[in-house]
Amino acid sequence: MRLPASRELDGIDAAVVGIPFDSGTTYRSGARFGPRSIRASSPLIWGYNRALGVSPTEELKLVDYGDVGVVPVDIRATMAEIAEEAASIIRAGATIVALGGDHSISLPLLRAHAARYGELAVVHFDSHPDTWDQEFEDQPYSHGTPFRRAIEEKLIDPEAYVQVGIRGPFAVPKGQLEPAHAGVRMITTENVFDLGVQAVINEIGAAIGDQPVYVSLDIDSVDPAFAPGTGTPEVGGLSSFQMLQLVRGLRGLNIVGFDLVEVCPAYDHGDITSILAANLAFEFLSLLAVDRV
Ligand code: MN
Ligand code: MN
Repeated sequence: MRLPASRELDGIDAAVVGIPFDSGTTYRSGARFGPRSIRASSPLIWGYNRALGVSPTEELKLVDYGDVGVVPVDIRATMAEIAEEAASIIRAGATIVALGGDHSISLPLLRAHAARYGELAVVHFDSHPDTWDQEFEDQPYSHGTPFRRAIEEKLIDPEAYVQVGIRGPFAVPKGQLEPAHAGVRMITTENVFDLGVQAVINEIGAAIGDQPVYVSLDIDSVDPAFAPGTGTPEVGGLSSFQMLQLVRGLRGLNIVGFDLVEVCPAYDHGDITSILAANLAFEFLSLLAVDRV
């Protein structure tokens, strides 16, 4: 988006931060190349958001912070790096827009944000719940478990945690698909199509109110026809337009942080996934700008 590349955060409203880590994936890896691909697709975005009526790149002071240092062979060390870097950015007063990387990066980001804001409300767009206890024996950390760990660590208020876009076949029989915690709202893709985008936005708003909210967007919430470049695609998903409208519908919430994960450029075609991701990051920045107008 032609943002200055800088780690100087004095007076900065928001920082775009790459987190090129994908060792938490369980199927197709390669999301470590997501940040550079999303950045490469972002010069397409000119400054004015017509739908929300704001120019975030003019109305906010923004930087591209570069990437967090990761350790590809060590998820715990990487999580520590992410949490530490995120905490320093938050301390400096900048809102983080993190570009993944796989979904395991959300846990350390949630840790850093909860340390600053307390128990967080969360809007989580995904085709998968990512609240599994573990995907491999004795492995608590992977891209399918971050929100379970976050609930256990009391980083998330379960009553204000809304999942949107869940679908697809699960790896376990229905009887084992226990809810991660009482109170968590799971809005399936079928629900979005049946109820409509505005009703979903209303439900999110009712669950969250004015609590500090963290937004986590797994690009696989969007149908693979619109976002093929991802590690675990699920057919029958949201259109890119529905996704844009759902994000715009978060306007007015007290959003304190964002991540956008699971863009895997090796499986992309014509950069359509990265272009969508860059546009969604622009919508995130626009949400920050629109509340100031
Ligand atoms: Mn996910
Ligand atoms: Mn997913």
